[in-house]
Amino acid sequence: MVANTETQAKRCALRYARCGEFAMDKVDVIIVGGGLAGLSCAYELADSGMTVIVLERGDFSGSKNVTGGRIYLSPLRNYLPDLWKEAPLERHVTKEFITLLGETNSTTFELYSDRSNQEPYPSYTLLRAKFDRWFADLVSEKGVFVIPQKNVDDLIREGEKVIGVKTEEEEIGADCVVAADGILSFLAEKAGLRKPFQPQHFALGFKEVIALDPKTIEDRFRMGEKEGAAQLFAGTLTKGIMGGGFLYTNQESLSLGIVVGIHSLNQREPREEIYKFLDEFKERPEIKNLIKGGEVAEYSAHLISEGGIHIKPRVYGDGILLTGDAAGLGLNMLVTVRGMEYAMASGVLAGRTIKMAKEKNNFSASSLAYYEKLLNESFIMKEMNNYQNTLSILENKRLFSKYPRGVSDLFEKVMRVDENPKEGLYKTISQELKKNFFNWETFKDWLQFRKV
Ligand SMILES: Cc1cc2nc3c(=O)[nH]c(=O)nc-3n(C[C@H](O)[C@H](O)[C@H](O)COP(=O)(O)OP(=O)(O)OC[C@H]3O[C@@H](n4cnc5c(N)ncnc54)[C@H](O)[C@@H]3O)c2cc1C
Repeated sequence: MVANTETQAKRCALRYARCGEFAMDKVDVIIVGGGLAGLSCAYELADSGMTVIVLERGDFSGSKNVTGGRIYLSPLRNYLPDLWKEAPLERHVTKEFITLLGETNSTTFELYSDRSNQEPYPSYTLLRAKFDRWFADLVSEKGVFVIPQKNVDDLIREGEKVIGVKTEEEEIGADCVVAADGILSFLAEKAGLRKPFQPQHFALGFKEVIALDPKTIEDRFRMGEKEGAAQLFAGTLTKGIMGGGFLYTNQESLSLGIVVGIHSLNQREPREEIYKFLDEFKERPEIKNLIKGGEVAEYSAHLISEGGIHIKPRVYGDGILLTGDAAGLGLNMLVTVRGMEYAMASGVLAGRTIKMAKEKNNFSASSLAYYEKLLNESFIMKEMNNYQNTLSILENKRLFSKYPRGVSDLFEKVMRVDENPKEGLYKTISQELKKNFFNWETFKDWLQFRKV
């Protein structure tokens, strides 16, 4: 339940003040967006003595949020150490699968590691509808006012300085506005910090949550109770378009989805109806047998950032900070997708910056620039820098067609015994390698790949 109790309402109302010439109500901090970034910022600020409100346009936190979703807790424990004991996470990931799909075959690499199966578990699956809702309740209990069904329409500015936000019904002032409004952050654009949407920097994800009983999930993935699996797919499922598939095991469901690059999709003739990709993916034997008997419980579609550091805007201005997806903090690392840890850690760092600014009573851009420094020192920007070349690699169509197919064809040739005498292993492998991999294109791709 979102906290809108009388006590909190009074507490909040008491702290309201009239705000200068604009004669509007004023709080210390307005956080726009009650997703992971916004709620983490609110959590960090909850004990600061400041009046903080979170405005979320959805019916509740988690109602509009989409992820794959797998979260890595190891980098987050330093930022939010007390959060995880009670958090409604699904399964800790003990198995990694990477599946390369050809037309009629596939090769799967499977990793099981004892290290992933020891506490504290490094990574979990999660469902945002459950997790964000729980997080919003927690933040509310700590005294932050989380207000659902509140869409922010605009920023209020005094010259360059952001001094509040406008909703349909009212104007609310604040010393600092935190844009945590997600990937298409119009607040970041309105603040002049972010350039308009460019298709080559975004992909579109479609996802189904398929209900299955826990025992069936554990049997199908050969896992113990509460153990989880993360599986990524590349190859013919996206028909040569940049993208791939994912499958995560939750406690009582599977999250199955497909992601395709918008630019790559737009270039394709004839146009593909992308939602059909997921239906076709579900018909593949590799998937069909895993989801057999399951009921689709949820369907969602959402944009996902692929631009990495190339689309990161300036993350601070006079009276405003950008966090999470709104700050362009998302990364496709080819073997995994990152965004949730960045959202949460950046929310915490924004909170710390605001506390520091409050001490100095200075919310100008030069004071809030401290946030950029904190981000640069964090794992977020270090990883964004380390993976700055993935975008150019993702533009390489061979990664989504020729190579996955080539690996599966090679493996099939190695394993197949037919009516003809079987050729020597070395000859079989070298013939296949020559056909698909020993050429100028692959050499150039290898040179490029060394940059990641
Ligand atoms: C298909 C898919 C798969 C992904 N897989 C993974 C994964 O496995 N692991 C991972 O780490 N990341 C993954 N990501 C990325 C990750 O989900 C995001 O990086 C993360 O959700 C960003 O969190 P956020 O809080 O910044 O934004 P969001 O979760 O999008 O939250 C923004 C919030 O702002 C609200 N809002 C927006 N505009 C307004 C407004 N005007 N007024 C009020 N409220 C507003 C929205 O309703 C929403 O609640 C995936 C993303 C997608 C789409």
